[in-house]
Amino acid sequence: MDDMAAILTINLSALCENWARLGSRIGKAECGAVVKADAYGLGIEHAVPALARAGCHTFFVAHVSEGIRARAVASQATIYVLNGLAQARMHDYRVHRLRPVLGSIPEVGYWRQHGHGCEPAALHVDTGMNRLGLRLEEALALLPTHRLHDLGIGLVMTHFCSSEVPDARDTAAQIASFARLKAELAASGNGAVPMSLCNSSGHFLDGIETYDLTRPGYALYGGNPTPDQSNPMRPVIRLEAPIVQIRHVPEGEAVGYNGNWIATRESRIATISCGYADGFPRNAGNNPQHEGGTAIVAGVECPFAGNVSMDLITLDITDVPQGKVKPGDFATLIGDALDIDRVAASARTNGYEILTNLGRRYRRQIVG
Ligand SMILES: *Cc1c(COP(=O)(O)O)cnc(C)c1O
Repeated sequence: MDDMAAILTINLSALCENWARLGSRIGKAECGAVVKADAYGLGIEHAVPALARAGCHTFFVAHVSEGIRARAVASQATIYVLNGLAQARMHDYRVHRLRPVLGSIPEVGYWRQHGHGCEPAALHVDTGMNRLGLRLEEALALLPTHRLHDLGIGLVMTHFCSSEVPDARDTAAQIASFARLKAELAASGNGAVPMSLCNSSGHFLDGIETYDLTRPGYALYGGNPTPDQSNPMRPVIRLEAPIVQIRHVPEGEAVGYNGNWIATRESRIATISCGYADGFPRNAGNNPQHEGGTAIVAGVECPFAGNVSMDLITLDITDVPQGKVKPGDFATLIGDALDIDRVAASARTNGYEILTNLGRRYRRQIVG
């Protein structure tokens, strides 16, 4: 083993295939890509150029600083900044051709006054999340007296709160609100303004109207947009940690901090070099209250033995045949049967958090 670092492999062709697969579901609509939070932890500088080469023209980030990084690697792209209008960054919107997503009437007013020389913004209309965006009534009240084009607005969008949940009532209500908004846009002479509705899971809703532009994030990176069904996306990341040591633990002895795991038989324990300081969730620890995570060693899925430490995880490899594994071999923490949704469930979180916590300490290997 030349280093203790776990290896994070990022497969850019799988990423681009996922983007194309999502695009194939939406007819003539354009498929964008959400690359906020450093492309969900994978790295803007890798993900954005790969997607741009695959044909993606429109990117969404959360912060102006992320938009600047995306612009540096995608000179021709359209880049929206989701988290509202940052008044102190007008210069950056202009110079880096970033488009804010306006989320309140005051932001619309400020943009109208100060947005000259910028590319058109998006207008975010809230249809049920109560997080960002104009209330539907506020947006509808704006329309009869304003041309969105004259306000410097070139896209109207809303965001689902439960699109991954089959038959969610709030999803149906959001779809209906957005359809109403479309009708009112048309009636007020704003019918030419493109609209955007779907996140990843939205692409898989039965009979969904996909409007003009979609905004997938999670599914691009291999997350399952249909959690009640098998994952239609290709895995994009793989995480493998080297085994530092293998030891025998007699029946009845405890392993790890606070002795949360007790050997119920003569056991073999592999200690691997990855922990919560790498962004691997501490909540995946195996203790009497919670079953916790697993790792694949020599083709065998092995349970964690006790807590996840800062830099180490202990695995119960008793079921791996002797001679099939030695120090320096790698255990798979994410990959094969262990997709990010399963890893997330073992840590009582979601796959988005697994991705966006992927640590800086991994040796990152870009393939494809
Ligand atoms: C994060 C985000 C998305 C992407 O959602 P996924 O579930 O990751 O596909 C789309 N739109 C908005 C407004 C977002 O904040």
